[in-house]
Amino acid sequence: MARGQDLVLGLGRSGWASVEWLTAQGRHVIAVDDRPGPAPGELPTPLPAGVTLIWGGATPEKLVGCGRLVAAPGVPGTHPKICQACRLGIEVVGDVELFVRAIKRPILAITGTNGKSSVATLVADMLERAGHRVRAGANLGTPALKLALEPLADCYVFELSSFQLERIHSLRARAAVVLNVSQDHLDRHPSLEDYVRAKARIYRNAAIRVANRDDPLVMSMTGLGRPDWTFGFTPPGSDRAFGIRSGRSGPVLARGRKTLLPLAEVPGTRRIAALNALAALALTADLGLDPEAVLEAIRAFRGLPHRLEFVGTLRGVRFVDDSKATNVGSAVASVESFDDPVVLIAGGVGKGQDFRPWADAVAPKVRSVFLIGDSAATMADRLRGRCPVETVRDLGEAVQRAFRAASAGDLVLLAPACASFDQFQDYAERGRVFQQAFRELDHG
Ligand code: ADP
Repeated sequence: MARGQDLVLGLGRSGWASVEWLTAQGRHVIAVDDRPGPAPGELPTPLPAGVTLIWGGATPEKLVGCGRLVAAPGVPGTHPKICQACRLGIEVVGDVELFVRAIKRPILAITGTNGKSSVATLVADMLERAGHRVRAGANLGTPALKLALEPLADCYVFELSSFQLERIHSLRARAAVVLNVSQDHLDRHPSLEDYVRAKARIYRNAAIRVANRDDPLVMSMTGLGRPDWTFGFTPPGSDRAFGIRSGRSGPVLARGRKTLLPLAEVPGTRRIAALNALAALALTADLGLDPEAVLEAIRAFRGLPHRLEFVGTLRGVRFVDDSKATNVGSAVASVESFDDPVVLIAGGVGKGQDFRPWADAVAPKVRSVFLIGDSAATMADRLRGRCPVETVRDLGEAVQRAFRAASAGDLVLLAPACASFDQFQDYAERGRVFQQAFRELDHG
């Protein structure tokens, strides 16, 4: 019997999961990647039956006869294969679209420029503590179609990037949130408006829409309308709002007039951790979860590696690894979340961002700045004359110089505001190198 056929373009983790899931559905798959060959250990063993693998890009006729082109999030819409599919009238979808068509279970959907992984992890923990079988994934951790091959969960928590949202058409989220929007990925999106439009797609057909009321770009999104719940660092003005208000013995997380938890009980870097906790509370507010389980999840949340991760203290100087601060928005939030003087390490691949807002936030907060990577010169130009700034060879040297420039009570912060791939495999490797360089300082 002839089997239907799809083409999967881009063999990263989600691409391979798409190949596995489609073949499990009995489809024949042409799996294509532009790279000349697989990385060591990359090929699944055994390769599922019904797969034709093509490295180095596929010739145009390979697409003819395919029912769908399943594009990995990393493949831009301008890719010749996608253009060809559009000309031929072949549907272009992402892996999450295939998931939502196949699996009819509630999805909590989370997007935003920063904080997605942190909030998704916290939300999943809230649900788990409240007794639900929950799986978290998509942009975070496990690809959506890998989850689709597992036993069904009661509920899915999906972290979704703008690239994924562009290729999702049928999502009807049980609850959806855009955490914040600031410049990022402008090397791939033609404009900020285009990026905002992609993020706003999360609200289409969502049963519950949650928004950050302090973020004008989120609040003006088409499709949001009047949000069902809002969150923000400001006092909550209504019963449908979460925020911070002053309590008898200090600030508290609150819903309307109701006190939920002292801010002091939220672990991590105050402002960011509190905002993410408020977003998670708002996203789960209509799900009828046990309130104690929800608050317990907040108290227990220790954060994720390389996100404002405390590394250690040497002669009174604290070291913090925020390697995941890969754009201006997160790096500004990072620097602003500390009261003590900061010696900042930044730089890498700038992705076409405007570094002026970064410099405006950084200059008054820092003792000095050490820059590495491709965008170091551009970033140094923005800071020159406003604070001490130096370009250094690599991250190891930056850590040594930063430590020498710091005094007891200061903080050495890695918050690059840039992607890492000029010098590292990814942000995690950059964070590990930072932590290793800290260990190699003279601790004697
Ligand atoms: P994402 O998955 O969106 O990249 P993460 O949870 O991995 O988000 O956090 C990425 C970085 O963004 C962190 O290193 C931190 O500096 C910053 N961050 C986290 N939450 C927020 C927030 N609510 N607002 C601004 N920046 C944040």
